[in-house]
Amino acid sequence: MAVITVAPLVPGAFAPPGGTAIPLFTTFVHPSAQQRVASVLASTFLSEGKLVKEFESRLSAELGMVHPAALNSGTSALHLALEVAGVGAGDEVILAPQTFIASAITIVQVGAKAVFADIQYSTGNIDPADIEHRITERTKAIMAVHWGGYPCDLAEIHALAAKHNLVVIEDAAHSPGATYQGQAIGSVSDFTCFSFQAIKHLTTGDGGALCARDPEKAREVFRRRWFGIDRANSPMNEVGEREYDLTDVGYKYHLSDYAAALGLANLEGFAERMGRRRALVQQYKDGLQHVAGITHFERKADRESAHWLFGFHVDNRLQFIRAMRAKGIAASVVHDGIDNNTLFGGKRMELGNQRRFDDTQIHIPLHDDLTTEQVAYIVDAIKQGW
Ligand SMILES: *Cc1c(COP(=O)(O)O)cnc(C)c1O
Repeated sequence: MAVITVAPLVPGAFAPPGGTAIPLFTTFVHPSAQQRVASVLASTFLSEGKLVKEFESRLSAELGMVHPAALNSGTSALHLALEVAGVGAGDEVILAPQTFIASAITIVQVGAKAVFADIQYSTGNIDPADIEHRITERTKAIMAVHWGGYPCDLAEIHALAAKHNLVVIEDAAHSPGATYQGQAIGSVSDFTCFSFQAIKHLTTGDGGALCARDPEKAREVFRRRWFGIDRANSPMNEVGEREYDLTDVGYKYHLSDYAAALGLANLEGFAERMGRRRALVQQYKDGLQHVAGITHFERKADRESAHWLFGFHVDNRLQFIRAMRAKGIAASVVHDGIDNNTLFGGKRMELGNQRRFDDTQIHIPLHDDLTTEQVAYIVDAIKQGW
């Protein structure tokens, strides 16, 4: 991850509540996790088993995910989604560069080409108006990344996909618990990919989930997450061998029970934690409503962000970061446009909004350990100028 720094405290500077610097992210581990993980270790049944199943049932019941298959990472989810969608050598996938490299690296892994569309400067999400002219006969899919947890314009994206017969894959690494026009993210598109990496909302240490709306495709996801073997329907024979016939390439992408135990612990009180996040975001918004030099991101009423990040555009960004650091407050771009990587062909200057976004976006602390006193302190520090 780029530039996730915990600021050192400058002697003499006024200190944040609690005295220590305020990081951008923290990792949330529910108090019950110790006991839950310990009992899996004691059982010695560590790999994929009943806790993975229970974790999946609860993701579905509590977060509205459709057919979630728990995997060992969000990157595995993206890769498996592309595979099951039939994206392969010579194909093209359209996505926005405002994301982590995992989104595009999986496209390269399946032998396809990442075609970058511009973003909306106001959100960091793919601009539906910049997609259609990039569609060719090789285009197979649109990958929609919900930047910071704020859902993309899915209705417009789905309309384009339907018109051109494309698959929609959501990179929802930042958006468990988000909604779009009343529907849970994880239930809207052909495929939705979540990450349970350490600094994401809901962590299993590392992990992820892939939701496929179509039950047939979902069955394929479950089969191919474990070598391509249909575990449930491949009984052991008398000589002790599992009976199956491998028909296509699968992966070792399943989640393990000890990781699922952590995930189950972290699901406890998840809705309340999200509610707290929303309240902290509201406190930031109210406090920073009319601050010269800050332009807030656009937020529409028909969708609810998962608020993984709290970001905005800022004038004199480097000065802003330095001023925050001097007061013990982390501030980071998190990621710039990933098209600047040689692997993906190098920086596209014609993506004007992405280039502007690269220059002005900034994110300030938002996590489960953040207090209302700290948010008040940060708002105050920003209002003093930079
Ligand atoms: C974290 C992240 C991923 C990858 O998830 P892992 O679980 O770390 O593999 C993919 N896309 C985005 C946008 C992410 O932030």
